[in-house]
Amino acid sequence: MTADVASRVRRTQEALARAGLGGLLVSPGPDLRYLTGYDAQPLERLTALVVPAEGDPVLVVPVLERAEADRSAAALAGMEVVTHEETADAHALAVGFLPAAARVAVDDHMWAVRMLALQAALPTADFLAAGRVISDLRMRKGPDEVAALRQAGAAIDRVHERMAEFLIVGRTEREAGAQLADAIIQEGHASIDFVIVGSGPNGASPHHSVSDRVIGAGDTVVIDIGGSTAEGYCSDSTRTYVVGREAPPEVMEYFAVLLEAQRAQCDHAAPGVSAESVDRIGRTIINEAGLGDFFIHRTGHGIGIETHEEPYIVEGNDLILEPGMAFSIEPGIYFAGRHGARIEDIVVTTGDGIERLNTTARELTVVAG
Ligand code: ZN
Ligand code: ZN
Ligand code: ZN
Repeated sequence: MTADVASRVRRTQEALARAGLGGLLVSPGPDLRYLTGYDAQPLERLTALVVPAEGDPVLVVPVLERAEADRSAAALAGMEVVTHEETADAHALAVGFLPAAARVAVDDHMWAVRMLALQAALPTADFLAAGRVISDLRMRKGPDEVAALRQAGAAIDRVHERMAEFLIVGRTEREAGAQLADAIIQEGHASIDFVIVGSGPNGASPHHSVSDRVIGAGDTVVIDIGGSTAEGYCSDSTRTYVVGREAPPEVMEYFAVLLEAQRAQCDHAAPGVSAESVDRIGRTIINEAGLGDFFIHRTGHGIGIETHEEPYIVEGNDLILEPGMAFSIEPGIYFAGRHGARIEDIVVTTGDGIERLNTTARELTVVAG
């Protein structure tokens, strides 16, 4: 990743100072990758980025990880890498770069045992979760990140374009899912994040994965798939298909409402409008069609180096959208025990609206089966 990690760290320090925090400790995971370009393994030995509000940040790593850390974008940009030997007190070493009597933030995904050990090494400090200190940065994507998300979106679109290869009458969801997983890699992802093949009644369970259910003629199938590119950026797109023949009139009727709601949400989303208003405009359309009870989740989630991150597109989130925010718009309608449908695009807020990063047909598509 060629991201400008130095500017990310500098903006983090500004955010720490504004929040009255003395420093930040970041363990392996998406936040570390975002701030340093170092995709470290979370292991029992301590690896941590230590960012004092003032002064130089350091990357603390076990001595055997030095070569990997030295290749990170942060190290190449001049960040100091400090190593610890097997028997050294790594936690004391790390907190030694922070002011002793301070409020210290830790990344939201840090292991509890890790946080407790750091806290014990710096008992004079108050520890708290980083929360918005990092997420406020991560949810505002730079042009390099938007380009990476666009590339991920195009890759997952190519998998959807091939759906007739995978959805065949007589095949199980699991078999179709295994082929979809292969296609996710073939079309340009480095890893598979999830594969949902929700056929028939399983389509009514939004986070179903796959099962041994055999796909039958006339089944609707909700396909929600995503992977990560080598740069670490995620794709996530849902389309609903019908196998072998036209869908029953009832399904076509509610699908038309869903399509209209998703289109209205994409038309509405723009810089200057709130996250919750994007949810509300689609929910209103679905409510007015008498289907409100069957839209059982929020409209969407932010996406970047994690599939689910800020900003969440949900009632109660009055965050005002800004250019460079990337998130899903994915309303769904679900009839438990029968069938369901969802349409999901990743979008990025532009100067005056949004760009859809997924562009395959959103209609209920019949595959030959
Ligand atoms: Zn989800
Ligand atoms: Zn999805
Ligand atoms: Zn999603």
